Amino acid sequence: MIDRELVIIGGGPAGMAAAVAAHESGVKNILLLERDQYLGGILNQCIHTGFGLHYFKEVLTGPEYADRFIKKIRFLKGLDISLQSFVTRLTRDNVLTVFKPGKFLEIKARALIMATGCRERTREMVHTAGTRPSGIFSAGLAQKLINIEGLLPGKKVVVIGSGDIGLIMARRFTLEGAQVKAVIEIQKETKGLTRNVVQCLEDFDIPLYFSHKVSRIYGVNRVQGVDVEKVGGNFKALPGSRFYIDCDTILISAGLIPENELIEMAGVVMNKETNTPVSEKLNTTSIPGIFVCGNSYQVYDVVDSVTRDSERAGQQAAEYLKRL
Ligand SMILES: Cc1cc2nc3c(=O)[nH]c(=O)nc-3n(C[C@H](O)[C@H](O)[C@H](O)COP(=O)(O)OP(=O)(O)OC[C@H]3O[C@@H](n4cnc5c(N)ncnc54)[C@H](O)[C@@H]3O)c2cc1C
Repeated sequence: MIDRELVIIGGGPAGMAAAVAAHESGVKNILLLERDQYLGGILNQCIHTGFGLHYFKEVLTGPEYADRFIKKIRFLKGLDISLQSFVTRLTRDNVLTVFKPGKFLEIKARALIMATGCRERTREMVHTAGTRPSGIFSAGLAQKLINIEGLLPGKKVVVIGSGDIGLIMARRFTLEGAQVKAVIEIQKETKGLTRNVVQCLEDFDIPLYFSHKVSRIYGVNRVQGVDVEKVGGNFKALPGSRFYIDCDTILISAGLIPENELIEMAGVVMNKETNTPVSEKLNTTSIPGIFVCGNSYQVYDVVDSVTRDSERAGQQAAEYLKRL
């Protein structure tokens, strides 16, 4: 069993900010575990600008924002980074099981910071009837395919949900030569940032339908089209409002779910609706010594706020360790 003062799970902006802050606050036996082969988290696939406006007072892309922290943490003495390290188990007394290619490790942490981010809501969660053809992607997966793998997943696209990821991907598909037929939003207004509605949809004449839902998906092997209906106050379809859109691809952008199964496994009291820890104070949980920050603590709009609050988590963990 390996012993560590502080273990941080997740090497996205939250985990990196927490690591730097804990180190600056005097913790010198830190291990940062990241399941991917790179640090940076979701920022690596966000090649658009819009990051760092508040924190750096600059307009950066996601990878540029991440790079500022990667450069900072790489050479800090007493802070070790372990990539391709997937944490699969966590016990109440902070023993972690970590899977690395070819081996399992057990690590005991005196304090722990979870910075595991979010996963996306799926088609099953938006309750759409119809067939189950190929061509249905979560917006983040489509972003990874285009921006990291260099693949265009489709040519005629309908986006379900007007969150920021969906808006950004509507523009991304358009820039790659695909036709985005519509963004369909069941609510009366978007949860996305106004700047994204303007810069990603209005600037490209992409129609946005509020109070509408995709009620049926058609296609055998590949998506062929969708039915769209206007909804009333109770989200029930209004008779006579149905219209058909011909498309080969559907993107689901219907929200994010914080990744917190590990702390739930350890016995942290959870809010079942939001999948976040029940918490009286920023970044804390019902188990002393287990902290949560970034998108796994709450879904943030911009990364600058993730960094600010995660630095606080690093300081909180350092204070906790000093008190032990
Ligand atoms: C499409 C999109 C567009 C965005 N646009 C903007 C924008 O324009 N401006 C802006 O400011 N913000 C934007 N954001 C938001 C910003 O990127 C996020 O708020 C931020 O990345 C969240 O940071 P995080 O570290 O909490 O999570 P993440 O970046 O998701 O990092 C979590 C990390 O934890 C790792 N991990 C998870 N589970 C485990 C495990 N069990 N073991 C080991 N490692 C694990 C993951 O691999 C990942 O690297 C955007 C986000 C998306 C998805």
